[in-house]
Parts: sequence; C-alpha cells; structure tokens
Amino acid sequence: MIAGGNRSINYLRISVTDRCNFRCVYCIPSKPFQHIKHRQIARYEEILRVTRQAVALGITKVRITGGEPFVRKDIMSFLEDLCNLEGLKDISITTNGALLTPKKIEKLLELGITRLNFSLDTLNPDKFEKITCRQRFQKVWDAIMNAHTMGISPVKINSVILRGINDDEIVDIASLAMDYPFHIRFIEYMPMGNSAVEKSQQVLTSEIQEKIEAKLGQLIPVPREFNDGPAKKFKITNAKGVIGFITAISSHFCGDCNRLRLTSRGTLRPCLLNNYEKDILSPMRNGATDQDLKEIIETALAQKPLYHDLNNKDKSCIPISHMTSIGG
Ligand code: SAM
Ligand code: SF4
Repeated sequence: MIAGGNRSINYLRISVTDRCNFRCVYCIPSKPFQHIKHRQIARYEEILRVTRQAVALGITKVRITGGEPFVRKDIMSFLEDLCNLEGLKDISITTNGALLTPKKIEKLLELGITRLNFSLDTLNPDKFEKITCRQRFQKVWDAIMNAHTMGISPVKINSVILRGINDDEIVDIASLAMDYPFHIRFIEYMPMGNSAVEKSQQVLTSEIQEKIEAKLGQLIPVPREFNDGPAKKFKITNAKGVIGFITAISSHFCGDCNRLRLTSRGTLRPCLLNNYEKDILSPMRNGATDQDLKEIIETALAQKPLYHDLNNKDKSCIPISHMTSIGG
C-alpha cells in the first residue's frame, strides 16, 4: 500500500485493549475518563480479519500494543492465531512487562516472537512508583532480565524523559546500553489528551544527547536499515547495545512513516498524532465483505497526513485521545 508522499505502508500497529495495570503520568489522562465498553472493543477474530485484509494489501509487520496487551484475557491464544496468519513476517509486542512471566516469555519464543519493547523510565523503585502509580519496579526489571537471558533479541527499552521527574537519570538509563545488548530508546514526550504533564516538562533529544555524550562518549550514528522504525540509532565505543532517539517533536519523521494503527475500538488511525480515524468495526459487524474491508483500509490510508501539528501552539492540534486508547 502506498500513502501520500510515496510512503510504502507495511506496518500495522494493533492495540488490543485500552486497559492498563499502570497509570503512567505521561500517558493516562489526569481527568476522569471512561474505558471503552466491552462490546465496543474489537474481538480477537475481528482483529484477525482486519489483519488478514491488511496483509493482503501489503502489511508484513505487526506490533501488538495497548493499553497493556498482557492484561487482555486470552492474549496468548490470540498471539498464537496471529503467528499462524499467512504472509505476516514479523510480530513484536510493546509491554510494561509487569505481567510477563518466564512461562509467557517461553511461549512467545516458541511462537517465534523474539522481539519485545519494554517501557522503563527510571531505575529507581520509588520514582518508578511516582511515574506509574504502581510498586512494580522489581517485577518489570525481572521481566526484562528474563527476556534477555531467555533469548529475546533485541530487548528494546522505551524511556520518556520528563523534566523534574527523571531527567537526572538520562545517563543511568543510557548506560544500560553499555552493559547489555539492549536498544535504549528515548522517546520525546508527546502531549496527548488531558495529560497531567506540562509541555515545559518535555526534554528534547538534543539535551538528552548532550548529557549522554558528556558522560559516556561520542554517539556514533548507526546507518539505517531497511524496515527500521523511527528511532535514530547511535553506538558508543565499547557499548554492547544501541541508543536511539524518537524525535517526534524536535524533528518529525512523518516522511518516513510506514505505519497504520488499528485501535482497540476497531478504528483505523493512519497517524498517531492526528485525530482522523476510520471505523472498520461497525461495517464488519454490519456484514461488510473482505473487499469492503480492504476499501475501508485504503480510504483510511488516503488520509495519512504528510506531517503532524504537535508543535502548533493552537491547543486544538493536540490529539484528543490519549495513548492508551490509541495504542502508542
Ligand atoms: N503498556 C505498554 C507499554 O507501556 O509499553 C504499551 C502501550 S504504551 C501506550 C506504548 C508506549 O507509548 C510506551 O513506551 C510509552 O512510554 C509511550 N507513551 C505513552 N504516552 C506517551 C506520551 N504522551 N508521549 C510519548 N510516549 C508515550
Ligand atoms: Fe499503561 Fe503503557 Fe500507558 Fe504506562 S505507558 S499507562 S504502561 S499503556
């Protein structure tokens, strides 16, 4: 599938739930919000049907996200069905790790899911509780270490750096890439929905890079590979891993964006940071044929914008949905 700007779209990011066992300050809205009603959530067989049509249109890569994917009931059997879907070459998952037991890791490896992204914004258990509102640092750390020792590769770690919260840990978090073959990815905070985090707390990539270089040495760019995600990757001499930056704010990468999103309420979202969504669940429940579904996917993609508007001072440009409901 080709979207505007001659972008070849081969990556579908599927949010299987808007629920989460954490309450990360930068992700969950500060004002009360309603979860999607059970019947409005796309069922697994519906997600599989949309994915099948998307694969027929050229999707080869899928990432499962949420909310927290592992809070959804029967997620492991859904993953098994997804892995059996013909034409899909690459399946990965983004998780907070708290529910990822060694048994689940073993099953993922058996299914051929070898790549996992974890979210970890601090190495300090007290701060972890402040950021996530949960005392789960040790569980998450153990899950990351288990994934690493059991053969998940690469282990990627996503960190959102916020001024006054964890900006004093930039070097410690980056140092994980010195000691382990991890991909540490610093993601610029994106203002979404009713977030409690102020825009002034955003720490941009240039500042993070300066702090890392001052302590750990020069960041040497790693050439982009085919199918690379949006992270700009760097190596440091003698590091076992890689350090990446997702510069959604300071340097948007929309021109290279190869993704389409399916939200847990069954809407297609061609851009994370733009409010346009196309409902595919209702047509499916009202008898749409596979051909109809393909046309809906193509219609959604035709709306994929060429750039986002997050740097616009006009508040109406801030996405109204929060990350758990879209799937980050
Ligand atoms: N629960 C899983 C997790 O935390 O990895 C998957 C869903 S979470 C929405 C996916 C990613 O979005 C996480 O790495 C998280 O750090 C990131 N994220 C959430 N809200 C964000 C925001 N406002 N700005 C930047 N990244 C955000
Ligand atoms: Fe949950 Fe992930 Fe959002 Fe944290 S970032 S609240 S773990 S969905």
